[in-house]
Amino acid sequence: MRKRRITAPRRAITVNAGRAITTTAGGTIAATAGRAVAAALLAGTLCLSGSLSGCAPPADPADPADPVASADPVASADPADSVGPVGRLGGKAAREAAAHGPPEDAYRRWGLDAPLAPAPSPPARRPPVRAAGPGLPPVVDRVPTRDKVVFLTFDDGAEKDPRFVDLVRELRLPVGMFLTDSVAGPGYAHFGRLRAVGASVQNHTLHHPYLPGLSYAGQRAEICGQQDKLKQRFGIRPRLFRPPYGEYDADTLRAAAGCGITAVVLWRDGDPLRPGDILHCPEGRSGTSLTASTTALLRRVQEAGLTPARLEDYL
Ligand SMILES: [Zn+2]
Repeated sequence: MRKRRITAPRRAITVNAGRAITTTAGGTIAATAGRAVAAALLAGTLCLSGSLSGCAPPADPADPADPVASADPVASADPADSVGPVGRLGGKAAREAAAHGPPEDAYRRWGLDAPLAPAPSPPARRPPVRAAGPGLPPVVDRVPTRDKVVFLTFDDGAEKDPRFVDLVRELRLPVGMFLTDSVAGPGYAHFGRLRAVGASVQNHTLHHPYLPGLSYAGQRAEICGQQDKLKQRFGIRPRLFRPPYGEYDADTLRAAAGCGITAVVLWRDGDPLRPGDILHCPEGRSGTSLTASTTALLRRVQEAGLTPARLEDYL
């Protein structure tokens, strides 16, 4: 029996899997054996942490009065587009932002000592990443690139700090929001505002379950269901998916592929930071706001000689 330790930003998860499959990206697939036991243990352990937004009970995602979501101009975006409607919209917003440039002294307002270096032009071709298997998406925690970039990702959608929207807008920050419907749903308008300033919205399931504890059908319902919700809210079907807790199995990958996902995105601890790292920004750790934890991470990114770039440009 192999024992893999997967370090998540806010907790360490130890998984005992009857078999474990190490992917090209270094992730771990919990195999079928021992799945139910691992699921029960993990679910219990993880949900004991009251601060874990992803463990919150499902809330009513209906928000018909949400003006931002319902007025989204890309509701007719073609989900079959190989570039991806998320990328298209995010790219347009990002290009417009870049054209104007951030306010000159914006960095000071956010506690940085210098402006963020501009991200290099997106690669003409996305760096090749190996699929996890025939017909399956790749699983990545880092993009193979020499560009001096990292990728900022956020999960769940619990914290809806208006200042975070200001931060993203003023610093022209390319961020990827992996949203769970039961967590983000009651406040999708906030994420509509983030999209309007260049953030991308990605899939993080309907209810944030430990996916390897579910059947294939159950996993598919979680992933495809959130694709439907995001289509309904924002007019998009994301290409990128992050499994809750970074935990997945072979069924997850099959289900994700069936739901139109082209890459399963994990993350790295980022210590030390390296070009291409996909970083996970913790929400409100130790009483700090998402905005404060993000600016702290930005300082580290700058110290490493790197700058944030759009994940969809590379993946
Ligand atoms: Zn999560």
